[in-house]
Amino acid sequence: MPDGTAAPAAPPKTLRTMAALASAGLVRVDELPKLEAVAERYAIAVTPHVASLIDRDDPADPIAAQYVPHPDEAVTRPDEHPDPIGDDRHSPVRGIVHRYPDRVLLKPLLACPVYCRFCFRRESVGPDGGVLADAELEAAYAYVRARPQIREVILTGGDPLMLSPRRLGAILQALDAIPHLETLRIHTRVPVAEPSLVTPALAAALATEKPLWLMVHVNHARELSPAALEALGRIRAAGVPILSQSVLLRGVNDCEAALEQLFRALIAARVKPAYLHHLDRAPGTARFRVPLARGRALMRRLRGRIPGHALPIYVVDIAGGHGKVPVGESHAERDGEGWLLTAPDGSRHRLADTGESG
Ligand SMILES: *Cc1c(COP(=O)(O)O)cnc(C)c1O
Ligand code: SF4
Repeated sequence: MPDGTAAPAAPPKTLRTMAALASAGLVRVDELPKLEAVAERYAIAVTPHVASLIDRDDPADPIAAQYVPHPDEAVTRPDEHPDPIGDDRHSPVRGIVHRYPDRVLLKPLLACPVYCRFCFRRESVGPDGGVLADAELEAAYAYVRARPQIREVILTGGDPLMLSPRRLGAILQALDAIPHLETLRIHTRVPVAEPSLVTPALAAALATEKPLWLMVHVNHARELSPAALEALGRIRAAGVPILSQSVLLRGVNDCEAALEQLFRALIAARVKPAYLHHLDRAPGTARFRVPLARGRALMRRLRGRIPGHALPIYVVDIAGGHGKVPVGESHAERDGEGWLLTAPDGSRHRLADTGESG
């Protein structure tokens, strides 16, 4: 990204250059030469709110790890891919991704409040691209209108809550008017990354006829700051139920205590944890990898230890565009006519299961 590029909708003082991060004490000056190569390839943004959450005395701070560039990003491994989950091959018109018959993604812009270092869309997101022109938006609506099997439109990006309330409101109204859509959804990081963007006007734009759900991306309990909780409250007050998705990330949340705190903090914030994503293989993200076996063991240990509705589903998005599948450990195995069930404490128990029809 060119230095000093600022999205019009961004709040003042978002840190967008290596120099700005260095003067805020977030990167070491001796790392700057290496990091400049990273900055040329991938967008950078650390909002004032996120900067305020970072403990500068902790070299392993889980907030900084998500947003502050690292020299390792300059290295792309052979098994990493610019479009790891195959969105491009499922994009029939600009801005639409149509992988499942009943729902589509609509990406009205590719700007985000922050640029997560592990993002699976990191090769496409950034402050200076991807805004759909009016004609492109119309073509996206026409695609949805012409396909009655589509029941849900998911606004994502980039981050749809970076749009002005007027523009977001106009998009939601256009979708609200499509008869065969049953629900609408927004995927966002804004409430935790820059809660001040969730103004009363933005919350008012979320008041749709059709049920609108919001899925907030949050990876660490400390991201649920008082300001973030207030922003989520303004969204909920508009009648919008809130779910969460998280990414399992080495150095951020890859231990039982961090996940327990995150999921407990989410339900305490009236947010239902929906997904825990296994990391997608986007370029330069190897330092965040957690082996699948470790993710499964972490989730198994949380089962029974925290409330059931606090546990998300651990999923992998299959490379090449084949969709998301649960990969958590199974607690049920076939055992003759019945099943063998594994309890949270590891003990095994038989379930006789002849069924109604014998
Ligand atoms: C993740 C995703 C969705 C949404 O899936 P849900 O399981 O409904 O959250 C829809 N379309 C695409 C292309 C996706 O990657
Ligand atoms: S907010 Fe979402 S789309 Fe934007 S950089 Fe982070 S993970 Fe990627």
